[in-house]
Amino acid sequence: MTCYDLHSHSTASDGSLSPEALIARAIEHNVDVLALTDHDGTEGIAAAKQAAQATDLTLISGVEISVTWGNGTVHILGLNIDPENAELQQGLTAMRDFRVGRAHEIAKRLDKAGISGALEGARKYASEVMLGRLHFAKFLVEHNYAKDIPSVFKRYLVRGKPGYVPGQWTTLHEAVSWINSAGGQAVIAHPARYKITATKLRRLITEFKEAGGVGFEVVSGRQHPEEVKNLARLAEKFELYASCGSDFHTPDSWAELGMLSALPESCTPIWTTF
Ligand code: AMP
Ligand code: MN
Ligand code: MN
Ligand code: MN
Repeated sequence: MTCYDLHSHSTASDGSLSPEALIARAIEHNVDVLALTDHDGTEGIAAAKQAAQATDLTLISGVEISVTWGNGTVHILGLNIDPENAELQQGLTAMRDFRVGRAHEIAKRLDKAGISGALEGARKYASEVMLGRLHFAKFLVEHNYAKDIPSVFKRYLVRGKPGYVPGQWTTLHEAVSWINSAGGQAVIAHPARYKITATKLRRLITEFKEAGGVGFEVVSGRQHPEEVKNLARLAEKFELYASCGSDFHTPDSWAELGMLSALPESCTPIWTTF
């Protein structure tokens, strides 16, 4: 059976492996089709494509776009995008610009809380192209502000905490429209991870579908098995495609490449559109 993993990160966002090392690890873990979906940028795709070329692995060009929806953030994956598309790139450039300003603001707020040098400290963990909260989290753990990444997020980097800066990301409509302009399929990432009610999730799916989105992740890393059934039912009800992805960021963590349960029979896999 073909092994699909349609959600992963490299050093082009907040993953810890280079695109080349990611491809090598995916092959080790018997992934046949991998999507590289870095946050708000596609800088890793060329190197990943190149690395996959001489292998049996099929690389899907992707991106994970941060969206402000309701009073929180949701993530929309674009799969099978043309990374060269001008409209998509224009949108992503604006997102990267926002990230630069946000990083400065996070550092300023941490400084006020008595933690100096956070910007330089976080940069050590990041590539040139993107600075995210996970890089700050690594710096804070290194300096013993908390025992691990999840606790450091809880203590410093989420709403109400000293280093929190609200994301002003793009809209659901814009994200989906950039993806569609780039010839891709828009998919809601890890729908069970948003702290929203079932009613609000249905509203999200409805608006997403109206905007031109075509699927969501039914199987995702770090997800309770019960969720799969629930999400499969929702996919059927809304007539949306089902996707599956580990959301791999780093080795030896909660989500390994390719270690995903199968999509339930009732689902129509997103790859039938590839
Ligand atoms: P950002 O897009 O820069 O706001 O950062 C979001 C990223 O931080 C996510 O994609 C995860 O990689 C990471 N992240 C967020 N919350 C947590 C958490 N509680 N534990 C570990 N990583 C997290
Ligand atoms: Mn991430
Ligand atoms: Mn995400
Ligand atoms: Mn992700």
